[in-house]
Amino acid sequence: MKQILVTGGAGFIGSHLCERLLKDGNNVICMDNYFTGRKQNVVHLLDNPYFEMVRHDVTFPYYVEVDEIYNLACPASPIHYQFDPVSTTKTSVIGAINMLGLAKRTKARILQASTSEVYGDPVVHPQEESYWGNVNPIGLRSCYDEGKRCAETLFMDYHRQNKVDIKIIRIFNTYGPRMRPDDGRVVSNFIMQALKGEDITIYGDGMQTRSFQYVDDLIEGMVRMMASENFTGPVNLGNPGEFTMIELAEIILKMTNSKSKIIFTPLPSDDPKQRKPNITLAKEKLNGWEPKVRLEEGLIETIKYFKSL
Ligand code: NAD
Ligand code: UDP
Ligand code: UDP
Repeated sequence: MKQILVTGGAGFIGSHLCERLLKDGNNVICMDNYFTGRKQNVVHLLDNPYFEMVRHDVTFPYYVEVDEIYNLACPASPIHYQFDPVSTTKTSVIGAINMLGLAKRTKARILQASTSEVYGDPVVHPQEESYWGNVNPIGLRSCYDEGKRCAETLFMDYHRQNKVDIKIIRIFNTYGPRMRPDDGRVVSNFIMQALKGEDITIYGDGMQTRSFQYVDDLIEGMVRMMASENFTGPVNLGNPGEFTMIELAEIILKMTNSKSKIIFTPLPSDDPKQRKPNITLAKEKLNGWEPKVRLEEGLIETIKYFKSL
């Protein structure tokens, strides 16, 4: 039985990951400071003797004996990561140092949840891992983007300097049950607005694109990446289907039978115009991994979840 630490384990993605790791027969320590995560996301796991919940902030040292670490601690939605931007950078950078120090001491394998945001507002489309990105270092999104970029640097340097066994994944927009209704990201906003009959808020002209990955597909990719040999990444994990925000709004309006109106509000600064992963590397290195869940299928589950709240 492996002893696995998941930081940010009470969050949206982290809770699905803890579930999967337990199902695969591991011991799981879920560490979270509950900034955006919630006990509700993991309460159904608390009866499991192989699951342990720890309240801890990843920016402080943490000592435990583990075989694997998944480092997910970090707010992911713009409204949350911009609430206290200094703390966001600290979480990514100091959090990475602490978890890498822990991995170094225990010789654990460690996976970093990086992001497509490292590509910034990309001029190369679709994005492949060799692209260095187009990130504003001093804007409102920088605390997140540059924090995650620096964490990737730390991972690579601990690997080169200290032989730490690292894995880096770059996650593209992911959605599914257990996203917070007030998360602020586009999928949860549009579904909540449609269900409540409120106006659907499209930022800008709605022609910007994103690629939406259902959470189950991501979790499969994460577990395969952790199990891979002789491959550090970074590797893109995302669904290459690309949609404009207008298309997304129309799909959600139709699926919820909603009478909500679409309204257009100002575009936040530095909002990337396009995003779509090239997943050739993931397919090659992760035994043919590719997303299986189409947007409409994933939205059925996600709408069901928001209706149940
Ligand atoms: P989330 O906000 O639901 O989860 C983040 C978790 O980290 C929360 O439970 C939060 O309480 C916890 N956390 C935050 N700061 C912490 C700290 N200092 N110490 C301990 N715990 C802390 O978001 P999510 O969508 O589940 O994202 C999980 C990870 O995946 C994040 O690292 C995020 O950057 C990355 N990611 C997510 C997406 C996406 O589309 N969801 C895309 C790219 C990358
Ligand atoms: N660290 C931790 N848990 C451990 C080992 C280390 O939290 O089990 C932290 C510790 O606070 C340290 C950081 O990880 O500051 C980086 O560790 P490293 O060994 O690289 O550096 P150093 O101890 O020399 O600062
Ligand atoms: N967006 C929108 N309406 C909303 C929330 C977001 O039009 O209510 C847009 C946002 O401007 C961005 C896209 O949807 O262009 C995705 O935003 P999200 O915050 O979900 O993810 P990110 O920008 O980090 O990819």
